[in-house]
Amino acid sequence: MRLIVCGSGDAHGIPRPDCADPDCACARARRGAGTVRRQSCAVVEAADTRIAIDTGSGFQPCAALLLTHYHPDHAGRREAFAGVPAWGPDPGCEVAGLERFPAPDAVQFVAPFATLRIGALQCTALPLNHPIPAMGWAISDGRQRLAWLTDSYGIPAPTIAWLRAHPCSLIALDTTFPPGEPSAPRKGHGTLDVSLAALAAVGARRALLIHIGHRLQRWLEAGGALPEGVAVARDGESYDA
Ligand SMILES: [Zn+2]
Ligand SMILES: [Zn+2]
Ligand SMILES: [Zn+2]
Repeated sequence: MRLIVCGSGDAHGIPRPDCADPDCACARARRGAGTVRRQSCAVVEAADTRIAIDTGSGFQPCAALLLTHYHPDHAGRREAFAGVPAWGPDPGCEVAGLERFPAPDAVQFVAPFATLRIGALQCTALPLNHPIPAMGWAISDGRQRLAWLTDSYGIPAPTIAWLRAHPCSLIALDTTFPPGEPSAPRKGHGTLDVSLAALAAVGARRALLIHIGHRLQRWLEAGGALPEGVAVARDGESYDA
């Protein structure tokens, strides 16, 4: 089973269009001298089954589509849904103070911790910490399991418990911000310190940081170090699970 990261960036991507800071990673990416990151999406493949996760700007069409939630950087590419079976969380009722993000018509709702079978793969929906209902996906080919967890501030306790009972050989987790970003809990996106603590709580042996924002990219390019077993995902890169 392989994970192909098609978009490792946050909602704005890198370079971020509204970032004019000449010292930012955006400026280096714009010059062709730094890392470019598209909006969040991935492909998981095993045997002859290929599943797309989310429809960010790096989206690659597959025969089936799993959605994490309905923010535009994850589900905004409506042409992606034409004729393709799609599954995602029930967006539920309106969340106080936030605009509602409805699901595209074709999406079939999956309950938290429910598992569905798509070809050779078993896909389990895992609740996340985000301002609107969001679920990551654990995907197993019967031998290995990987998890794609975005958007989320850390990992909620019931999902940590599930992951401890169902070990993954690879976990990709939202880490939008460098350590200590005060707005992260409200925005429902991981900071590096919170992500590393969540991965430790799960007992993750190998992890990929995804949904990378420009400030974390700048922090990394300034020499910020990661612990062993933790890497930053790159667009277009394949990872064996
Ligand atoms: Zn997002
Ligand atoms: Zn920037
Ligand atoms: Zn989101």
